[in-house]
Amino acid sequence: MIRWDNLTYTELEKMLNDKTVVILPIGSVEEHGPHLPLSSDMIQPYYIAEQISDRIGAIILPPISYGWTKTMNSFKGTISINFETLKMLVFDILNAVCKTGVKNIVILSGHASKLHMAALNLAADEILDIYHIKIMVLSDYDIAYEYRGRLVPETDSHAGIIETSRVMAIAPELVKKEWKYEKKKTEKKYMVLKDIREYYTYGTLSDPEGATPELGDQLNKLITDRLIDYIKTNFEL
Ligand SMILES: [Zn+2]
Repeated sequence: MIRWDNLTYTELEKMLNDKTVVILPIGSVEEHGPHLPLSSDMIQPYYIAEQISDRIGAIILPPISYGWTKTMNSFKGTISINFETLKMLVFDILNAVCKTGVKNIVILSGHASKLHMAALNLAADEILDIYHIKIMVLSDYDIAYEYRGRLVPETDSHAGIIETSRVMAIAPELVKKEWKYEKKKTEKKYMVLKDIREYYTYGTLSDPEGATPELGDQLNKLITDRLIDYIKTNFEL
């Protein structure tokens, strides 16, 4: 695994060429039910970035642990940063990375809420106005959720089977043995909620029952393989 900030500037200078791929992992500090750590959205993309680095020599940037999340009103521990803060932080980091001559960047977020992803996409758009480079923006959950309806139920969601399994595979010591799931009533369509506990008492948006480290390992491998394929195709490596 190659970490950008573990290198010296001279090592980095030697390593950079037009084919170099740099990954910026982004997470969130967010409740994930009573069974998963607040760092779940950071643990997962960082692990995927490590696998990709080992396989194709991509360089991992120091990650951004914070993101924009909706659950700060409802659960202790969640720390959300403003949309503008997130967008500017990502822009500033990309700007500096581009100045060093990097041409291929992957922004890989473990957190996938729409507004959070919009901030990352907007920062990437603004960078493309300045530099002739290639950028991918995705969540590892864009790929993971393609396996809903096949490996897990169609309704699997936040802190459910996929997420619990993946964290069990990566950091089993951080997963609590007992999980809780309760949906209070049928969700009303298009409602903007102040407190998601109105529907989801425990902050688990689908039932994690059935999660296993073996399934997590399988999913992590599938995500890594698919993302490497996308990187090779998109960056013409
Ligand atoms: Zn998550």
